[in-house]
Amino acid sequence: MNEIEEIKALLDFPQNTVIITHRNPDGDAIGSSLGLKHFLETYNHNVKLILPSEYPPVFGFLNKVDESIVFDLVPDVCEEAIKNASLIFCLDFNSLDRVDKMAQMISDASAKKCLIDHHLDPEPFADIIFSDPTASSTAELVYQFIADMEQEKRMTVDMGEALFVGLITDTGSFKYSTNPRTYNTAAKLKAAGVDDYYIQDKIFNSMQKKQLELLGHCLANRMEILPEFQAGIIHLTRQDYKDFAISRGDTEGIVNHILMIEGIKIAAFITEQPTIVKLSLRSKGDISVQEIARNHFNGGGHKNASGGSAYAKLEDVIQRFKKVLPKYSVNV
Ligand code: 5GP
Ligand code: MN
Repeated sequence: MNEIEEIKALLDFPQNTVIITHRNPDGDAIGSSLGLKHFLETYNHNVKLILPSEYPPVFGFLNKVDESIVFDLVPDVCEEAIKNASLIFCLDFNSLDRVDKMAQMISDASAKKCLIDHHLDPEPFADIIFSDPTASSTAELVYQFIADMEQEKRMTVDMGEALFVGLITDTGSFKYSTNPRTYNTAAKLKAAGVDDYYIQDKIFNSMQKKQLELLGHCLANRMEILPEFQAGIIHLTRQDYKDFAISRGDTEGIVNHILMIEGIKIAAFITEQPTIVKLSLRSKGDISVQEIARNHFNGGGHKNASGGSAYAKLEDVIQRFKKVLPKYSVNV
């Protein structure tokens, strides 16, 4: 029996299903998970969507996103749901450390585990694995999963809107990581009734004034360009977080502005968090920020978009990044 047939057989019976995605969920994490939740609910399965940490308010317009259970807020409820699950879907992450404190609970759970993901080098923690790093997004893979099961007839506008959010956020509105299936998926979602302009507007024209002011501060005061390495760095201090009252999601997308500069191919957004320093890395073409993240910052992701972290002082992390840069920016 192949993976699709195995899942299909499982879905023929009522299941206590849990969907889990990664900490600090982005548009693809929320969109793919919620799309799958809507899909599973068409079978009348019991479906709980669990998030390690809260979702950014920008996704609040999606139907039923407010039913998500957040581990940071109600850990006991999440633990109970994971224990009682018969089927756990892990979406948009490739290693259990991306779900923090829930990693052990998922490991210990007796449920059948199914991974749907598009990150490089997935860890083999699931029983059934749908991993395709050539996919633009996990949302694209969820659509393919539904199509492979020959269940496209179950598509609803709610499902489509959630999946469309995943597509446009992970591709920067179809600018990067695309393949022919990405556009086919978008076409199918639009045909199913998704108002693409409405979603684009909700996602990309929904900034608060303070977010634009923060972007201005980053570009005017916190950006350093290293032309010799075709690289740029923006950093934010803990004080910046206080001064601009930065909350979850406010810094989303800032790193991409560095790549707007002609000739710049590597971008780093380095932020001082309460206990760690977090890096958000982007690149163009053959330069792999995944290798930088994996080799030096205990992270990973995709070739052109990765993240990592370090337990060190902000200054030291910036220096470490500058030190390793020459190794990765040659032969561009
Ligand atoms: P972002 O920079 O938007 O936070 O993340 C970019 C990509 O890198 C995402 O696909 C995300 O899953 C991955 N990523 C971000 N932070 C980490 C991390 O700490 N560890 C790993 N393994 N991947 C990360
Ligand atoms: Mn993704």
